[in-house]
Amino acid sequence: MEDCLFCKIASGAGDADVVHVSDNVVAFRDINPQAPVHILLIPKEHIESARSVKDRHGDLLVELFATAAHLAKANDVDRSGWRVVTNVGPDAGQSVHHLHFHLLGGRPMKWPPG
Ligand code: 5GP
Ligand code: ZN
Repeated sequence: MEDCLFCKIASGAGDADVVHVSDNVVAFRDINPQAPVHILLIPKEHIESARSVKDRHGDLLVELFATAAHLAKANDVDRSGWRVVTNVGPDAGQSVHHLHFHLLGGRPMKWPPG
């Protein structure tokens, strides 16, 4: 997708603090962090949101969650706890229309989220 910010970052063309890259997944620090650890995990493939996930994305989703767990450990929040969030659509506040998972940690978090 030409005009997609996260496709640009996934291709290496964007300006991002990348913390993990594989053939299928990229992870980078959020530009506007909401917690001491705030990393975004994205598939390299342009998928608009969790609404657009298909059966063929099964392995990709496993990799995204396994990478989140790995990065939580690497950022020392695996014992204190962490949260994975994906926003879908306007009520959830999705602002970038390329599937991404927020990995948040390093502070206590409230439930339900605001
Ligand atoms: P959403 O609101 O769609 O769930 O999350 C989009 C996230 O992308 C936001 O947390 C926002 O701070 C982050 N973001 C937007 N533009 C950029 C950027 O250019 N670089 C980085 N690293 N993060 C971005
Ligand atoms: Zn994209």
